[in-house]
Amino acid sequence: MSSENQLSLFDDSNFNQQELIPTDPKIPIPPGTYSTMTELAQHCDRCHRCVLGNTRTHAVVGRGNLKAPIMVVGEAPGQNEDETGLPFVGKSGQLLEKILASVNLSTDQDVYIANINKCLGGYTRIITEEGSKRLNWIVKNQWSGKVLSVDSNGSLVWKQVTGWYRSKLAGRQLYKVFFPDGKCNNKGEVGYIATADHQVLTRRGWITVEELQGGDLVATGTPAPGSRGLQVLLGSLLGDACISSSGQFLENHSIQQAAYLKLKARVLNGFRPQVKEYLAKSQNGKTYQSLSMGLAKTYYLHDLREEWYPNNKKDFPITALEKLDNFGLAIWYMDDGYWRRKTKDGQIRKSIDVEIALGNITPETAQKVVKYFETQGYRTYAVFKSTWRLFFRYGEGIRFLENIAEYIPASMRYKLPEELHSIPFNIEVYQEEAVVTYWKPVIKKLLPPKPDFDVVYCIDVEDTANFVTPAGVVHNCRPPENRVPTTQEMTACKPYLLEQIRLVDPKIILLTGATALKSLTGDKRAITKIRGQWLEWEGRLCMPIFHPSYLLRNPSKERGAPKWLMWQDIQAVRAKLDEIRKDT
Ligand code: SF4
Repeated sequence: MSSENQLSLFDDSNFNQQELIPTDPKIPIPPGTYSTMTELAQHCDRCHRCVLGNTRTHAVVGRGNLKAPIMVVGEAPGQNEDETGLPFVGKSGQLLEKILASVNLSTDQDVYIANINKCLGGYTRIITEEGSKRLNWIVKNQWSGKVLSVDSNGSLVWKQVTGWYRSKLAGRQLYKVFFPDGKCNNKGEVGYIATADHQVLTRRGWITVEELQGGDLVATGTPAPGSRGLQVLLGSLLGDACISSSGQFLENHSIQQAAYLKLKARVLNGFRPQVKEYLAKSQNGKTYQSLSMGLAKTYYLHDLREEWYPNNKKDFPITALEKLDNFGLAIWYMDDGYWRRKTKDGQIRKSIDVEIALGNITPETAQKVVKYFETQGYRTYAVFKSTWRLFFRYGEGIRFLENIAEYIPASMRYKLPEELHSIPFNIEVYQEEAVVTYWKPVIKKLLPPKPDFDVVYCIDVEDTANFVTPAGVVHNCRPPENRVPTTQEMTACKPYLLEQIRLVDPKIILLTGATALKSLTGDKRAITKIRGQWLEWEGRLCMPIFHPSYLLRNPSKERGAPKWLMWQDIQAVRAKLDEIRKDT
């Protein structure tokens, strides 16, 4: 054989190159390599162009109409996809099908779905029913108890741990997330360390740690009072309840007021109230049975103290007065108010005096209280008699008591004159409230790479998939097999996607999420900024849209919420398809 013939044999690169593709990322996959999707899928099944080839069960190439006018591009397979070999088959897939069906689109006729990648590729304390536990301990021991979590209404709920993950950091960036005024110890701020792609629950919805900005309010996963709890707390603090510098709420009542205190404790159930009996001593040395109610230390109570104790001394913030309604006023009055019949020349008169003790507040605050009552339609005046007291002017006191009487239970009716006892008690306001999460600003700090910190831990939680840490609620991270593909992995796999696009030849490409957008078009903008916009890529119309899993984590359908925005986007897609079909 001549050397020329020998060379031409080696030049038959089409055959050799195709055979080499599965194992070598350096071998390009030129356009036109595959004539059918089946050929391409067979190659993907044997492919080892990136490390994901080592862990897959099935390569996940695509599903839907091979000649569809719309192509949906996702990121990478998850567990369900890896097992079935089909993209978008879990909860996200079901939601995607529903979204498509809402504008009469289906994978049978109009849509083909593919992925960028075809193969599946901490010491934080967690609040559990048994106290706080370290995340790595939970993972190592596969502990399956219940952890505190937040449901879609923002209520705190206990949910079971259902999965445990230990994964390599694999070049991901690490952030420390903590509250600015969180407790410090000699090891630094108390918070958690998370990879940049970890999701955090904020007022803006679920966002990655990387997207967190200064001033973002995160769900702390610790209780905030509901509307009635707020009235009980404020009314009690206006009375003689206090919050200690360590954030402990405490109030005392006489044993005769036990039933009333239990009602208060019921409303504040989210703060884990503890009612205890103790022996109190009066100034003249007499002892008597008393009750105290303490509430668990929380971020909400800690921040409330900042507001109520300027210069470490209790004072009424005017903002607290502005939040009070008649229920809160009733609590304040029951805790620190009195009434008595007026007398003249030894004769008891019909009119009554009503007084509320204000304590050791400043003269300015006493005047603010008078002004506040004026805005509520009551004429009052404040007097200093060793401490400040508030008096209702003639005829105003009875009107005030009339307005709050329905919130005064049987055990406290002695705080009302007999003529008001016929006003029925409204037990409804003293029912337990759903415990909602408190929101608080957070700080994040990029950590320098640590050679000894190359393993991260995470857990799955039933239904809600999130759990409470010392610096807020975090979503379970992507399990190791479902992490964001690395740039090398995306680059290695992209030629397959380009071939799929060439074979399907869609009129419209929908890119689900920032990774799909960046990988195909190179556009690095945040998905929240660019979703719903038409882009041109290689002469094709593309629209970035939210990933269905993002919608599952943000279920609100309110105007402006991710689901509402998706509804706008999918309608625009339907309209564009109709327009294209009309023109061809
Ligand atoms: S390049 Fe794509 S098909 Fe190949 S191993 Fe990686 S992810 Fe799988």
